[in-house]
Amino acid sequence: MTNTILISDEQWSHIRRKAELSQFAAAMKLLRHEVEDYFARPVGVQTLPGGYYHDYFCPQHAVQLIFEPDSPTLHRCPVDGATFSGEPFDSAWRWSVNNRLAESALRLAVLWKLEGAERNRQSVQEILFGYAEAYDGYKAYSGWRPENHGVAQFSTLDEAVWSIPLAWSFDMVRSTLSAAQEREIVDRLLVPAADFLMARHFGGIHNFACWHNAAIGTIGAVTGRDELLDFAIDGQYGFHTQAREGILADGLWFEGSFSYHFYTVAALLLLAKATANLPDWDLRQHPSLAAVLRAPVLCAYPDGSLPATNDCWYFTGLNGDCCHGVPKAPAFYEIGNAWFEEPLFGQVLARAYRHGPRESLDALLYGVAELEAGTEEGLALPSVQMPASGYAILRTQPQGEALRSEATEHYVFLKYGVHGGGHGHPDKLGLSVYAWGERQSPDLGTPGYGIDLFQGWYRQTVSHNTVVLDGKSQPAGAGRSIAFRADGPFQIADAAIRWGEDTVSGIDAPTYGVDEEAPEVYNGAGMRRAVLAHGDYFLDIFLVDAGKERRIDWIFRNRGVLAPLGDGVPIVPAEIEGDGYEYIGDLSTRPALDSIALDWQFGKTGMKLFMAEMDGTILYAGPAPGNPAEDLQDLIIRQRTASRTAFVSVFHPYRDVPRIVSVTWHGCDLSGDGWAACTVEGPGNKDLWIVRSGSEVEVPPWLGDLPASSRFEYNLED
Ligand SMILES: [Zn+2]
Ligand SMILES: [Zn+2]
Repeated sequence: MTNTILISDEQWSHIRRKAELSQFAAAMKLLRHEVEDYFARPVGVQTLPGGYYHDYFCPQHAVQLIFEPDSPTLHRCPVDGATFSGEPFDSAWRWSVNNRLAESALRLAVLWKLEGAERNRQSVQEILFGYAEAYDGYKAYSGWRPENHGVAQFSTLDEAVWSIPLAWSFDMVRSTLSAAQEREIVDRLLVPAADFLMARHFGGIHNFACWHNAAIGTIGAVTGRDELLDFAIDGQYGFHTQAREGILADGLWFEGSFSYHFYTVAALLLLAKATANLPDWDLRQHPSLAAVLRAPVLCAYPDGSLPATNDCWYFTGLNGDCCHGVPKAPAFYEIGNAWFEEPLFGQVLARAYRHGPRESLDALLYGVAELEAGTEEGLALPSVQMPASGYAILRTQPQGEALRSEATEHYVFLKYGVHGGGHGHPDKLGLSVYAWGERQSPDLGTPGYGIDLFQGWYRQTVSHNTVVLDGKSQPAGAGRSIAFRADGPFQIADAAIRWGEDTVSGIDAPTYGVDEEAPEVYNGAGMRRAVLAHGDYFLDIFLVDAGKERRIDWIFRNRGVLAPLGDGVPIVPAEIEGDGYEYIGDLSTRPALDSIALDWQFGKTGMKLFMAEMDGTILYAGPAPGNPAEDLQDLIIRQRTASRTAFVSVFHPYRDVPRIVSVTWHGCDLSGDGWAACTVEGPGNKDLWIVRSGSEVEVPPWLGDLPASSRFEYNLED
């Protein structure tokens, strides 16, 4: 008889008391429901291993087929009910069987620990013995497998994910097993699985490696094998190496996508949970664990959703799902809130539970009984720079809105930094805008692999709010911050990149789909973007130094529909060549004359874009894919042919009607005259802005005579 290791007897007593509390009623309800579903739709351990998860999709509709535990050879499409059988569907069905059995074993074991129903314990035992019996036979499977294949599951990643809940469930029921039974599970299932994962370890800095470590370490913890823990934690590519090299100094995982961030953090937390009761191996005090939970909170849109940077799922957020294959985000913060003295994590939970029930298994096992109540103000986060990732985020409160709130907060995100390895996008100096409770101009992230637009649109520069040269997507590059200011009369996010100098290297280098070497078009080209935010608008200055005459396309896309300008200038259909440009529908064009104010209308909100125009600028507009692709968003291109130019604009997100009535441009030739100036006028304010390209630049004296209620000056010197 060995007591449990992962959760001690004393901790179980505490959890049993919590299970009686109303705060955990939803978590208990879900747990019981999942266990009931297991018995209602039973399935046993299979004699053949699992296939490829991504094969369980309808070839015609690209949607996941309906997994029925009692239907191993007939698989139905949810769209039209068509059925599929044979390979690869039957193998892919077994992937879900393995997933269901492992996750069910954990839940059956937890409910048995809480309530003692023998049927639940018996089922855990059956699953574990079933796999102990079948595991060795899986090795002889001669069907097609990838190079990084698992034993019971398709890949080593799947194998790791599957083995962890099995190890947990074993630990929970082990006290009821005989010594021989325990040995059977340890020697024929758990240790062979860990040995296999060590032999096939990813051997680098990667989310796969973190999952391998979590599985090996968890099995090490429950079997008392220090060599497994040593490998998973202190090994060459163990926890400490992953944390040191994969987690950037600002707390974000290096791939620059919040989905992959949480996918990796899930594995790091699993290893920390597995070792929490082992004083020699306890990882909870490792500073990276609180940091990886804090960083996404600082970057979140005001409502708690997350910008879909790089290959990030668009749904990723702090209130619900944060990636496929891992618990919802609040489960992560239940652990963080229990382990770390960090009020922010409690606030994340308070907000999340206004959106959905507190029902995760982690809430039940780790959550504190009493959570703080949330406030109307929301999290009231500061503007922030994530210097290692290269994110600058400005948060402002609109004029006239006395109380700070999630519903009114404005948010601008300037992305300038590292590339993001295999999941990076060519989007340097791209902007995302959130305001009035909506993603106005969001980073689109990814719609999922396997559709044409994935590479053709979402991974091209033109789907981002930045600049494209000669229609070619940007190569990979890592820009740098020039200035960041979170307070004062206006906030500043100012960053630059020069391709050929600001290069990417090591794990940050792209693995596919993005040019690593600067193609000729960008070689030596430099760009700089300064966002100056004040109340409910921001000034945007985009400088381009292309080195020689190029077609320079300044891109902006906003949700909703662009209102007609109605100034009588004829608009004609057009075509432009460029990477991804073919996905912009119904493209039309007109010259841009003097100053132009565009207006996107999106529900009750909208975006006014005031642009200072120069001779020779051509405007293009057309609907472009959002995410999902059917969510069309009007995109505009300001096109100039030049070797150097500056695009100067004022963005004003509004609700109901724009508060800013006009922007008067006094000058905008920053790359020629060296200065730009405008007056932004709303009811009760005339804000005069003067931007110089260097402190030696003289501005006309009459600018000083202009009527203004406030004057703001910015100098673009480095
Ligand atoms: Zn179908
Ligand atoms: Zn992107």
